[in-house]
Amino acid sequence: MTIPHIIGGVETESADGATFDDVDPYTRSPYASVASGSAVDADRAVSAARSAFDNGPWPRMSSVERGRILHRLADLVEQHADELALAESRDMGKPVHVARTHDVPRSAQNFRFFADHARLATSDALPSNEDLHTYVQYAAAGVVTAIAPWNFPLMLETWKVAPALAWGNTVVLKPAEDTPHSGYHLGRLALEAGLPDGVLNVVQGFGPESVGEALTRDPRVDRITFTGESGTGRAIAAAAARNLTPISLELGGKGANIVFDDAELDSAVDWSIRAAFGNAGQVCLAGSRLYVQRGIYEQFIDRFVSAAQALVLGAPTDAATEVGPLASETHHAKVVGYLDPSRTGGASTLTGGPGEGWFVRPTVLADVPPTADVYREEVFGPVVTITPFDHDDEAISLANATRFGLSAMIFTQHLGRAHGVASRLRSGNVWVNCFFVRDLRAPFGGIGDSGVGREGGVFSRDFFTEPRTVCMKLPDLPVVA
Ligand code: NAD
Repeated sequence: MTIPHIIGGVETESADGATFDDVDPYTRSPYASVASGSAVDADRAVSAARSAFDNGPWPRMSSVERGRILHRLADLVEQHADELALAESRDMGKPVHVARTHDVPRSAQNFRFFADHARLATSDALPSNEDLHTYVQYAAAGVVTAIAPWNFPLMLETWKVAPALAWGNTVVLKPAEDTPHSGYHLGRLALEAGLPDGVLNVVQGFGPESVGEALTRDPRVDRITFTGESGTGRAIAAAAARNLTPISLELGGKGANIVFDDAELDSAVDWSIRAAFGNAGQVCLAGSRLYVQRGIYEQFIDRFVSAAQALVLGAPTDAATEVGPLASETHHAKVVGYLDPSRTGGASTLTGGPGEGWFVRPTVLADVPPTADVYREEVFGPVVTITPFDHDDEAISLANATRFGLSAMIFTQHLGRAHGVASRLRSGNVWVNCFFVRDLRAPFGGIGDSGVGREGGVFSRDFFTEPRTVCMKLPDLPVVA
């Protein structure tokens, strides 16, 4: 089967008939063929989205009507959870049970949350004792280009698509080339839920000099929301600048995880394992730089290394599997490249290293020089560096010594220390005694190389709409005697 594009409500091949192979990272064999989009297909998709926005019913419906359809779409996502979880897993190697219990439910929840949020949101009214009445309307921005990565395909696609649709926009979604399936299924389910043709278009293919880049250069696009690497973010920002198209960029990370000597040790080890090795470390938020206070350093290392060694690597379809293969051959080569002594700066490997096929075993590196590539750059694999520190100021300056600023974690039982350190971390997200838990009302995004802008709750509303100020001069009221 060839995975087609969905443009204007119709499943279609690429204009030039080009396709590429979708490879299962566990078997390392192609298992599907995918339409490979070009600038022509980008043009067709933007035209469909533009026409649906300018002439169609979607932006003109009430938020209640749109919400009803988006809740129906959430129902369909839940009903097709097994199929979607399997698609995610075959595309990028994550365990099926993780996709089934985490990614797919969160994807449905994205639709429910933003459908309700748009329906219940209030707007500012600015009363004045002059004869003026000022208030704010939130008008749909127009056509949204949404470009997604491969690490949490459906979850991150819906994180963009759901608020964009809820606020009345039309969308062209481009899933990552390694993970085309769930985006395709989403496009089909959206039509089944009653989304009018052209409101959600899904185009498949590559980024640079291809369909992805064309979607970012099109002057008919009103918003670009992107999640992916910082370098790609720069290319997209440059393309968008030509048309002054507003962008929201959720980019890479190099999260610091600070474990203080008063932390509850079992819990800190457990969360730190998840932060380092969940999704095989292919998480922008990963706690890939672990800082442990010297008083508990040796003890923490013993427990952490044992827990890393106990993680079960295996077939993504196996319910016992905790760590699957990396998502692609290219990505596996990139991660393994970081384990070369020239890039670890001669660090000691406490456990881990390359595994079979495209697996990398959970890897813990100690004595890593701060100049080493593996310490400074985003590895995006199951690789963590561990460094001791003595006092709070030192931990904060180590954590902040990076050009990224997406996530940080603090493990401590000292309330004042938790709040004090959190307020000094240069990071868009800080977790205290936990990791990855989210309130969808909260702003999500990063500082520096980790991104531009925030999404979530009203932050998504502000990005996907054009706030319009209405200022009305009140008539002079007749004086009633
Ligand atoms: P990537 O940047 O290689 O690709 C992401 C998407 O961009 C893909 O769909 C790709 O086809 C497209 N693309 C590439 N070049 C393009 C161009 N010039 N114009 C338009 N589109 C282009 O990223 P990836 O490897 O898929 O994902 C991993 C990266 O994503 C990591 O750096 C990770 O930290 C980051 N990420 C960030 C967040 C976050 O919320 N901050 C979440 C998940 C992943």
